[in-house]
Amino acid sequence: MKQKKYQKVFLGILAVMLANLLGASKKVMASWQPTDGLMIPAVCQGNKVVTTFPFMQEKFDRPATGARAKAVAPVVPSSDLPAGVTKDDWQLQLVNRDHPVTTEPTVQLVEFAGQWIAAEIFDSLTELFAAANKAGINLVLISGYRSIAHQEELFQDKIAEYVATGLSVAEARGETLKYLTAPGTSEHHTGLAVDVIDDVWAKESGELVTAFGSTEAAEWLAQYAPAAGFIIRYPLGKTADTYIEYEPWHLRYVGVDSAQYLTENNLSLEEYHQRLSEN
Ligand SMILES: [Zn+2]
Repeated sequence: MKQKKYQKVFLGILAVMLANLLGASKKVMASWQPTDGLMIPAVCQGNKVVTTFPFMQEKFDRPATGARAKAVAPVVPSSDLPAGVTKDDWQLQLVNRDHPVTTEPTVQLVEFAGQWIAAEIFDSLTELFAAANKAGINLVLISGYRSIAHQEELFQDKIAEYVATGLSVAEARGETLKYLTAPGTSEHHTGLAVDVIDDVWAKESGELVTAFGSTEAAEWLAQYAPAAGFIIRYPLGKTADTYIEYEPWHLRYVGVDSAQYLTENNLSLEEYHQRLSEN
């Protein structure tokens, strides 16, 4: 089987060379043409493929799917970043444990489904909700913008709750950090992040827990939110970069081009920033 494959490739090379020799005077060129991710020898006139070699056809007629397609898929170079994007773009602002917001950001807020969000993402979120609706999924916005002051309040309240059960302040703070991000380190301060579930999950539990990730709504979000410019900001397997566990409900607006690039390349926003810095 393997020998047959080599024979075909060898014959292909021979055919390209021979056709080039014979066709040189007729301005006809034989070359390897990309076909569905594979290279196939073909005779061309300018950019037009005149003929391919019939004996190679059988090998390439089958669609390139599965593992075989993956093996020959071209490697995307890191220079293939979306055009015109820089890490300093407003929609790519990085907020995490290492990049806290120290002063209250000035965000122009608008109301969306009873929550506040940055005005810049209103249209995109409207688009996302409409697209979900078309797919039979009714999204529910749980949370949008949160000021540092509000986060501080939530944070202190939670610490006080734990202290009341007998924990030391340090212990209480440690416990609180498992559920709440420290004031200044939450993406919700930017107004570009939203927590979203659907009405089915809202009725069933309504809680922002990992189990939401296996629902139809969460799968739909992971697949289609990028088309509206949103990413699952804390995906599975990226906790080492984000310092935050898998959160299938937490969407972050980054713009359509970046959202699609991040998703296709399985990158966290932290990795994307790194790639943009190196470019
Ligand atoms: Zn969130």
